[in-house]
Amino acid sequence: MELTTDGSPKDRRILVATSACLLGHRVRYDGADKRSDWIADTLAQHLTLVPFCPEAEAGLGVPRTPMRLIRDSQSLRLITLDPPTRDMTLVLQHFIERKMVQLSAVPPAGIIFKSGSPSCGLKSVGVWHPETATTEMGSGLFAQACLQAWPLTVSVQESDLTTTMNRGLFLERLFVMDRWRHLLECGQAPKALSRFHARHKFQIMSRDRQALSILGQLTAGPPGEPRVAEYGRRLLTTLAIPPSHALQIDVLMHLYGMIKKSVSASENKEFLSLTEKSRQLRTSLHEPLSWLRFQAQRCQNRYLLEQWYLFPDPRQAAIPI
Ligand code: SF4
Repeated sequence: MELTTDGSPKDRRILVATSACLLGHRVRYDGADKRSDWIADTLAQHLTLVPFCPEAEAGLGVPRTPMRLIRDSQSLRLITLDPPTRDMTLVLQHFIERKMVQLSAVPPAGIIFKSGSPSCGLKSVGVWHPETATTEMGSGLFAQACLQAWPLTVSVQESDLTTTMNRGLFLERLFVMDRWRHLLECGQAPKALSRFHARHKFQIMSRDRQALSILGQLTAGPPGEPRVAEYGRRLLTTLAIPPSHALQIDVLMHLYGMIKKSVSASENKEFLSLTEKSRQLRTSLHEPLSWLRFQAQRCQNRYLLEQWYLFPDPRQAAIPI
């Protein structure tokens, strides 16, 4: 069996639970779907997408009357919109309990939710407060249960996957956290925590320097499960921050510092000029990054070759965004 450089099988497919309507299943309240071509065609070729539809699977039927979330002083309830209004909370909760047991057999590495749905939406659902006649934004009932059950699962909604940048960031998070899960499943943590951190250092640094320092301290603390669990939680939170242009330039300069003595004066000049141009114009970092990749390979610089920031998992790199 061929292995990746983190020791996991090369052909291992990442499991991502996905709202069925995004995959083209006609399960919405109006009998339609909300197919996303990128999810249903592109991602489905590279990841194992497991469809779920809380409302259809709970037996509410297709088509069905639309519903909304209502919060009163007692509880959060799922209520039909059309009169006579009916409370569907218990029906959905029974489904959620069954589904959680089923999915827990192999918990998903990621979940893609349909936004705005009172079952699936992620912080994008209007929740009506009758006592104050106000609406606040919240998450659907199934989405809430998933977030609680699998805090280390990479959870997004399709409305956050419409730009190239956001798609790239989602895949990056998914593959980092997949490597994290692999580390836990193999029983390699906490022994291998330092090496894991060293290989992800620049992905973390591109988001938050303080988080890098805290995560670094966690790798150096006394061995034990709480330290490992805290590392995983903080890692996922940090990866949710989009990398800033300024911090990415810092990352490039750090990486450059590891190789500058191995390249000629004119090559050094070329890198510095490419990076300065990108810094001043705030343009893509593609050129200095390509320079670093090329030189890392040419000089066989092991430290740089092991950086996931520079050389993403080939399975991740193969997914068009
Ligand atoms: S948003 Fe969720 S509940 Fe609604 S149709 Fe899609 S999968 Fe089903």
